[in-house]
Amino acid sequence: MNRAFNFSAGPAILPTAVLERARDEMLDWNGSGMSVMEMSHRGKEYMSIAAKAEADLRELMSIPDNYKVLFLQGGASSQFSMVPINLLGDKTSADYILTGQWSKKAISEAKRYCDVNIVADTSESKFTTVPAAADLKFNPDAAYVHYTPNETIVGVEFPYVPDTGDVPLVADMSSNILSRQIDVSKYGLIYAGAQKNIGPAGLTIVIIREDLIGKSKQNMPTMFDYKIHAENESMYNTPPTYSWYLAGLVFEWLKENGGVAAMEEKNRIKAEKLYAAIDASALYSSPVEKNCRSWMNVPFVLANAELDAKFLEQAAKQKLVALKGHRSVGGMRASIYNAMPAEGIDALISFMSDFEKSV
Ligand SMILES: *Cc1c(COP(=O)(O)O)cnc(C)c1O
Repeated sequence: MNRAFNFSAGPAILPTAVLERARDEMLDWNGSGMSVMEMSHRGKEYMSIAAKAEADLRELMSIPDNYKVLFLQGGASSQFSMVPINLLGDKTSADYILTGQWSKKAISEAKRYCDVNIVADTSESKFTTVPAAADLKFNPDAAYVHYTPNETIVGVEFPYVPDTGDVPLVADMSSNILSRQIDVSKYGLIYAGAQKNIGPAGLTIVIIREDLIGKSKQNMPTMFDYKIHAENESMYNTPPTYSWYLAGLVFEWLKENGGVAAMEEKNRIKAEKLYAAIDASALYSSPVEKNCRSWMNVPFVLANAELDAKFLEQAAKQKLVALKGHRSVGGMRASIYNAMPAEGIDALISFMSDFEKSV
């Protein structure tokens, strides 16, 4: 086997054990004589797969009983509009925290539906900081507060959860869900595209407090109504069955490996090691302020950008792939999600050190 250490931001690396299991079950799932891809989503086999995935996610994240878990399509980007459409109710404004490209997109979409009050904007720092908790002044009449706890592109992660009082907090956790323990009860709604830290693309997970369901106005597309999906156990129409199954295998893998608490400890160590190597070097540097460096997406730049191409080419020869930074920021970015083993970090650090000595 010739697996690379894949540092892609998404779609991203999956645990090898999960892919092997999917391979073993590909043609005949559990004696059914069918691939999961071929099953009716309403058949008893698939229903059991779907229910197990939800139960395991609930256990992993300790999701309280008064929250629904929805398995949807459309990506996190569809949530940029589903959130305002569904949560505004009779209110006319929502609070947004602007900390990077993803929150910016969420804001421009929300502006189509309501007055967006930007409570903090870190664009002056080129999105390399997060606002201080004390500086966040929320509007008590806002329908909700939206933020992006981990900005995938610049690699900025909030070290705290904003306290919004009685106003529901909405979080786009696409790139850091399941990476560390959180208290779901602090949130009104959590959403995440699956293709970063969960499974393959095509699945979007929404965790929503029940009292926030059913506030949408009439005349909205049926498929954009959380209530429809909640009432139909995410099977109003055909769900992304295979992605849901694979996400379920990842949840089982997480449980077998100590759950989110163990992952958090591994992720902390992986990130600290990589940032320490960057900080100790004369060639590499991190543009992100220390208190909010992401554990999942680690951007770094070379002192001489003319070396970028050579760095990427030589890294690829060592099977260290997809390290190129986002086109909007340049440099490098190592995305080190749950499925990236510690050996991948060690291999990257060792390569970076050899490369620095060679130039
Ligand atoms: C990748 C990403 C998105 C976009 O996800 P899609 O599933 O492609 O729509 C949104 N928010 C964050 C934080 C992301 O990392």
